[in-house]
Amino acid sequence: ETLDKGLEKSKSSFLSKMSKAVAGKSKVDDEVLDDLEDVLVSSDVGVATTIKIINRIEDRVARDKYLGTEELNKILREEISGLLSETNSGEATDFVVPNKKPYVMMVVGVNGVGKTTTIGKLANQFKNRGLKVVLGAADTFRAAAIDQLQVWADRTDVPIIRQEMGSDPASVAFDTVQKAVQMDADVVLIDTAGRLHNKVNLMKELSKVKRVMQKVIPDAPHEVLLVLDGSTGQNAFEQAKQFTAATEVTSLAVTKLDGTAKGGVVIGISDQFQIPVKYIGVGERVEDLQVFNKIEFVDSFFK
Ligand code: GDP
Repeated sequence: ETLDKGLEKSKSSFLSKMSKAVAGKSKVDDEVLDDLEDVLVSSDVGVATTIKIINRIEDRVARDKYLGTEELNKILREEISGLLSETNSGEATDFVVPNKKPYVMMVVGVNGVGKTTTIGKLANQFKNRGLKVVLGAADTFRAAAIDQLQVWADRTDVPIIRQEMGSDPASVAFDTVQKAVQMDADVVLIDTAGRLHNKVNLMKELSKVKRVMQKVIPDAPHEVLLVLDGSTGQNAFEQAKQFTAATEVTSLAVTKLDGTAKGGVVIGISDQFQIPVKYIGVGERVEDLQVFNKIEFVDSFFK
């Protein structure tokens, strides 16, 4: 119900565009496919994934000789579910973490995408499930980043490990995992700086943060979560490209889906980069983070 509400904009817009694309048409022909292509691209599904979807529908039209437009929603839904299933195999509906103690998540993404907010929301969810959480303020580039994380630490009442602005992010990460082990913590969330204008530095910094953590926990980080703003379309694709080049990203959080009419980013980025979407942000409040459920997500588009 909250997902439906959060995604209302994506839903109404996608469905209304779809119905315009097929208005007055009984069968799926080249013109309908062209219009469908426009609908998918303008919903931020991304060109590569759109072409993939269109090709699959063309194959079905060729195979079955005839495809009525009233069946198009159903077919499209099957194809999109199929694509999402390739990367999002699990049916996780709760905030669970794998059995590693502590489970270390390194959180990456550029400023403004909702990285700090997502960390705060996650801390809250994990804590509510009885897990002991520690935050690490390894985005030392901006004083505001450290302060904002502190606000979330206070709000959710979880410990935060921080140093002065400008200190070595790797040193903060090291401190954080070391303290987490001492405190017998369950989950560690490490905030990192995301300055894309200097790609080589970004790569170096993230590898150093990882390397240093591994002195304490050899297989850390267990997860590298990339946070993307779902309302930024092409920028989100570009950021995914840059971060996947800089480090091994293992999961995605797509934020601000409440504020966009184009939730297609979720489908395109997951497909193009073959990374599962783990969480979606649907508002600014602490409870406005959801575990991504592909079935509910696709339903919310097509119901
Ligand atoms: P950071 O710079 O990446 O750490 O970004 P912040 O976490 O500070 O978030 C930037 C802004 O986006 C803040 O005003 C947040 O309240 C807002 N924000 C974060 N996630 C969401 C979301 O899912 N929906 C909406 N509407 N706003 C969000």
